[in-house]
Amino acid sequence: MAEKIHETIIIGSGPAGYTAAIYAARADMKPIIITGMEPGGQLTTTTDVENYPGYPDGIMGPEMMMDFQKQAERFGTQVIMDMVTEVIFDEKPGGIHQIKTMNGEEFLTKTVIISTGASAKYLGLDDEKKYMGSGVSACATCDGFFYKGRPVAVVGGGDTAAEEATYLAKLCSKVYLLVRKNEFRASNIMAQRVMNTPNIEVLFHHELQGIMGNKVVEKAQIINNQTMETKEIEVDGVFIAIGHKPNTDLFVGKLKMDETGYLMTHPDSAKTDIPGVFAAGDCQDNIYRQAVTAAGSGCMAALDAERYLIELQ
Ligand code: NDP
Repeated sequence: MAEKIHETIIIGSGPAGYTAAIYAARADMKPIIITGMEPGGQLTTTTDVENYPGYPDGIMGPEMMMDFQKQAERFGTQVIMDMVTEVIFDEKPGGIHQIKTMNGEEFLTKTVIISTGASAKYLGLDDEKKYMGSGVSACATCDGFFYKGRPVAVVGGGDTAAEEATYLAKLCSKVYLLVRKNEFRASNIMAQRVMNTPNIEVLFHHELQGIMGNKVVEKAQIINNQTMETKEIEVDGVFIAIGHKPNTDLFVGKLKMDETGYLMTHPDSAKTDIPGVFAAGDCQDNIYRQAVTAAGSGCMAALDAERYLIELQ
C-alpha cells in the first residue's frame, strides 16, 4: 500500500500531459507522469508535424514527443511506463486521490491531471494499417498540406468529415467524400458548405473497401452499398473522419462527461467537479484537438493544480 502522498500525478503522455509536467516540475510539484499504453500519444502515429510553433523545418511526431519528454525530465518529472487501471477520487476539498496501475503500483496524490487524449476511430481495414502515414490519415489539419494539388478521399458523413473535406478542398485538386448513408449526419450548415464546394464530389451510399498503391496510396476501391457495384478512384490520400473516442473509460461514473464521453471542465479552467482533479487536452476537447491547444490546456491544468495546492496550505 502506497504511503507517500504526491503533489501531482499526471495520467497520459501526449502534449497536454508533458506540458503539464514541465510546468508542475518547474513549480517544484515533483510530478509523476504515467504514460499509458501509447507513450507520446497520438502524435507518435503521425509523420511530419509542421504546425507546431518553434519547429521552423517541421519535425517527426515521435521525435517531437521525445523532446517534450526530455524537457519534462530535465526539471525532475518522473516518467513511469505503466497504465492506470483504476482511480479512486476523494470528493472532499483537500482529499487524497488514489491511483492504481497495471503493474500493481498504487499512488496517493493531492492532485491529478488527466490528459488521456482521444483516439481517432478507424474502419478496421487491413489497408488502413498498411498505408498509415503513407497516404492514410485521420487528421486533415495535420497532413492535408502534403496533398496540395492532388486528389484525396474523405470517409465519413458527420461534422468532422464535412470540416475535413472543406479544409482539404482548399488545398487539393479534388475531394471525394464517401458517406455510407444517403444523408449527412453533419449539421445543415456544414453539409451545405460541402455541397456548395465545386471540387468536392459527395458519393452517398459509398464505403471504402480497400486501398492500393506501391508503398504509398495511389487508388481507393469503393463500393456502392445499394447496388454493390465497386469502382476504383485515383487518390493520393485517404482521410478517415468517422469520429474520435476520448480515452475516458476510466472515469465513467466518477467525473462529469458529455454524451460522447469528453470530460467536462469548468469554463476557462481545467477544473473538473472534484477538487484537485483537472483535465487537459483531447480528453476534454472535441473541437480543436491540436497538439498546440492540448499543450496550452496542459499548462492551464498545471497552473490550476499549483494554485489549488497553495490554497490548501
Ligand atoms: P459523428 O459521430 O457525428 O459522425 C460520424 C460519421 O462517420 C457519421 O456520418 C457516420 O455515419 C460515419 N461513420 C461511422 N462509422 C463509419 C464506418 N464504419 N464507415 C463509414 N462511415 C462511418 O462524429 P464527428 O467526429 O463527425 O462529430 C463528433 C461531434 O463533434 C459531433 O457532435 C459534431 O457535431 C462535433 N463536431 C463539431 C465540429 C464543429 O462544430 N466545427 C467539427 C467536428 C465535430 P452514420 O451517419 O451512417 O452513422
